[in-house]
Amino acid sequence: MTKDTLVLCDIDETVLTFKGVTHEWWNANIEKHGHAWTYDQWEHIARTNPPEATDPTGFQTMVRNSGKLIFVTARKKHLMRLTEEHLSKVTNQKWDVLFCGTESKGRIIKEHLDLSPFDRVVFIDDSDRHLQTVRDEFGDAMEFYKFHAF
Ligand SMILES: [Mg+2]
Repeated sequence: MTKDTLVLCDIDETVLTFKGVTHEWWNANIEKHGHAWTYDQWEHIARTNPPEATDPTGFQTMVRNSGKLIFVTARKKHLMRLTEEHLSKVTNQKWDVLFCGTESKGRIIKEHLDLSPFDRVVFIDDSDRHLQTVRDEFGDAMEFYKFHAF
């Protein structure tokens, strides 16, 4: 990556996670109780537990080697303050965050970000669904990386 690279990076289960929250946790709860219930449970966990960095060294290397990083999250906007706290705890820095909630990440990126100043745009996420919605919007205009935290 170079200084002309924009990195669009997911937050949860990519740069940070909470104790006990894994893909299996999400899948089992969504299957049993539905998405809304599961998200509320997750929000409770996120409000009451410290975030844990998944790969702090890898993250710092990525930051050093890219021009700009913007977080793109499916968290809802009312978690803005908490999200700033979580990110500064695991990275010691403040960041721009794009909140997508239940909307498609691909569509929100298209509507809100100007990618034209960058030679290269990299999208990183642990979720196949989000990787797909962004790929559907941008195709070859971006590079895609799936993060495996677990
Ligand atoms: Mg994620």
